Amino acid sequence: MSRLDNDFGLLGDAARAAMGRSHGLHVDGRAVETGRSYALTDPTSGAEFARAAEAGPAEVDAAVDAARRALAGAWGRLRPHERERRMLRLADLLEAHEREMSEIETLCSGRLLGNTAGVDVQYSAHVLRYMAGWATKLEGQTMRLSVPYIPDGDLRGYTFREPVGVVGAIVPWNVALGIAVWKIAPALAAGCTIVLKPAPQTPLSALRFAELALEAGIPEGVINIVTGSGAEVGELLVAHPGVAMVSFTGSTEVGRKIAGQAAAQFKKYSLELGGKSPVIVMEDADVDQVAQAAAWAIFGNHGQNCCAGSRLYVHRSIHDAVIEGVAAVARSIELSAPLQDGAVMGPVVSHAQQRRILSYVEGGLADGARLVTGGAAPDHPGAYVQPTVLDGARPGMAAVRDEIFGPVLMAAAFDTEQEVLALANQSRFGLGASVFTRDTDRIRRMTDGLEAGSVWINVHNALDVALPFGGWKDSGVGNDLGEAAVLGHTRLKASVQYHA
Ligand code: NAD
Repeated sequence: MSRLDNDFGLLGDAARAAMGRSHGLHVDGRAVETGRSYALTDPTSGAEFARAAEAGPAEVDAAVDAARRALAGAWGRLRPHERERRMLRLADLLEAHEREMSEIETLCSGRLLGNTAGVDVQYSAHVLRYMAGWATKLEGQTMRLSVPYIPDGDLRGYTFREPVGVVGAIVPWNVALGIAVWKIAPALAAGCTIVLKPAPQTPLSALRFAELALEAGIPEGVINIVTGSGAEVGELLVAHPGVAMVSFTGSTEVGRKIAGQAAAQFKKYSLELGGKSPVIVMEDADVDQVAQAAAWAIFGNHGQNCCAGSRLYVHRSIHDAVIEGVAAVARSIELSAPLQDGAVMGPVVSHAQQRRILSYVEGGLADGARLVTGGAAPDHPGAYVQPTVLDGARPGMAAVRDEIFGPVLMAAAFDTEQEVLALANQSRFGLGASVFTRDTDRIRRMTDGLEAGSVWINVHNALDVALPFGGWKDSGVGNDLGEAAVLGHTRLKASVQYHA
């Protein structure tokens, strides 16, 4: 067995029990078989390891129905502090199942165990606890009114933040449970109920999470999971008249389609979409530190982060040294199966994704970029891609313009601050951007000038639960995390009281 092969013997009992069987949907607190299923495949080999149910119109109807009943019933009647308490219990349960949850996430996605434990389990518990606190802090306003055509009496006005209703959540595979919890936690805090569709590749963690929610005292029907393809199950969910809000994370192309469908039905929507985030290195940055930071900004999670630092702009005076430093990190990375001890980079999620990434590398080279390191896949059946650095990136290249969503860095030199600001903003995306410098005036100017929902200084991809996270331009509308996410799951009701 080579280091590129998964050794399933290393898995704990719970994760091993999830293998070799078919997984149903989770509707109204119960596992539901549909009679149709598809294969879940191991990215290190392409081999099937389990099956998941394919939902259809009847099951999506049943899930939305269950969510509507829970909203009008057991969940809707709970006081805010009871929602908070159950969410806190769920956070504890999630942590107690860390090994199982991180292993099933790793099995489906090929991501490293340290990453799935840290981001999908520990960070998700943190998100649940932060959002739980909001359940008791949703406030309205009170005011004395003066309606001109009601001249007598005492008029008082109140506003309430009501739950928006049933939320249809659709999430990708790159941080499957982590992003599912970004959707579920603020919805629960606001008092909503949820029907969630995971990505077809990574349904198991959401299904198990829904079972843990029941154990935490969150009633049946509050969290429903429908699995299957985006084109069928995702579209059914977006179109369903019982869904009041669509909360989506995924590609810009699918997000655009969902926005059109949701808007036509006057549904609320929140879209967290793709990115092509620039990392900007000024001449006063520390070369060694910045090379490490820039390398992991793109190679972390095998390049499969929406805000991966996929474009690197380095001041010409230190360009060669920084590129060499990033390339040295890339060359030091040994590809290995994610269940192997000490793995630092595993496969990408699928063979389709591997082919797509490699075709962008070929395209970049054909367009005149220079290969610094990587650029190929090892001779192995797994969906591996070498960490890759291409220099000489120019704005017109497809590899610079499009989101590749793999471990491929497009780098270029610049001479002036104005030039790099223009280069960074010359993108249809506006998700994240980082600047490495010690100059405080420059920090202020760059923070003001960058067209992105998140701007990081001397760090990349630092996402705090208290800060809103969302994209500008083609990177989306709305926000996950922070107060903004909870308020986004509410709708305002104004009430007037007349006292004679
Ligand atoms: P994708 O858009 O192909 O799929 C995302 C989800 O949408 C999946 O569950 C999929 O089944 C579903 N879907 C597909 N077609 C659909 C349709 N017509 N109607 C309804 N649902 C449909 O994206 P992906 O390949 O799973 O994920 C990668 C993308 O996600 C990248 O573009 C990445 O940048 C983005 N992403 C964004 C963020 C963010 O917060 N901005 C975070 C993570 C990932």
